[in-house]
Amino acid sequence: MKNVLLLCLALALCACGQNETASMEASTEKTSTTAANQDTPEYAMVIHGGAGTILKKNMTPEKEAGIREAMNAALNAGEEVLKAGGSAADAVEATIWVMEDSPHFNAGKGAVFTNAGINEMDASFMTGHDQNAGAVGGVTNLKHPISAARAVLEKSEHVLLSGKGAEAFSKLQGLETVDPKYFHTDFRWNSLQKALEGERVDQEKLEGNRIITDIDHKYGTVGCVALDKSGNIAAGTSTGGMTNKRYNRLGDSPIIGAGTYADNATCGVSCTGWGEFFIRYAVAYDVHARMAYGNASVQDAADAVINKTLVAKGGTGGLIALDAQGNVAMPFNTAGMYRGYLKAGGEREILFYEE
Ligand code: ASP
Repeated sequence: MKNVLLLCLALALCACGQNETASMEASTEKTSTTAANQDTPEYAMVIHGGAGTILKKNMTPEKEAGIREAMNAALNAGEEVLKAGGSAADAVEATIWVMEDSPHFNAGKGAVFTNAGINEMDASFMTGHDQNAGAVGGVTNLKHPISAARAVLEKSEHVLLSGKGAEAFSKLQGLETVDPKYFHTDFRWNSLQKALEGERVDQEKLEGNRIITDIDHKYGTVGCVALDKSGNIAAGTSTGGMTNKRYNRLGDSPIIGAGTYADNATCGVSCTGWGEFFIRYAVAYDVHARMAYGNASVQDAADAVINKTLVAKGGTGGLIALDAQGNVAMPFNTAGMYRGYLKAGGEREILFYEE
């Protein structure tokens, strides 16, 4: 009996020792992970709701509160996905849905009008672990263009689909369609009327090859970049483009490398502003390239492109970027940019003006 008791005691001590070793190993592992990524949050995300002449003096308290509320709701939708361990791609799509549903932004409901008085929307989506990408241009009846862009990424062998073809493909994927009247807002309709009136008085614009008159340069495109618990980055952008656009004009938003880019090794980017400049200077890709080849930080890379390259050429706008360590950059060279971010642990900020 005594021998049996001694044997039990020895086994118990041995098991206890093993547990201790196992838990020591686990804690060493944890410590070294934490040491390697000391400040990396478990997840993070950043959004924008467009750049332009956004000035406090032109804002009513109601409008400011409405935009802030919509941006908070968008951040909440994305955070819910990320907190539960969902993918960055799911978080980006959920976030942009909220902004596409809000009339405050130039995407989905609230999209600007073309010269012909219709709403033609563009969107793009990219995942940072595989550089897979999808985009749609000039769609008129899809409630959530961002989902069409994601469907192109996931369910087609293409990257960019346009017009009727993009709509037919999206319908086959079961995406929600709406009567184009759904996108009408009086505010955007009035902006088109102002732009048309501006053209009537400014003959120069009619004679030249200038095809866009966004007189007040309030853009309003939406975008989101998310970093999930697995370290994956995804980025998406959705827009109605620019007021009074013609000839099926496409801006940077559906162009991978111009309006959107994502690479886990560097960062995710979503842009907003005068699309022609963002295409010409491959803005989203340039931020990635400065980090990949020049070892720049996400802040330095984003600042250089927005505040040096674009400013030197007269390109107006801004971008949001998020790297794999959860660092956020939100530079703009316009008066303001609707922007916000959050990080696991409670850090959250929403900003409109130069602060
Ligand atoms: N970049 C968009 C375009 O040119 C406009 C915007 O960002 O508001 O179509």
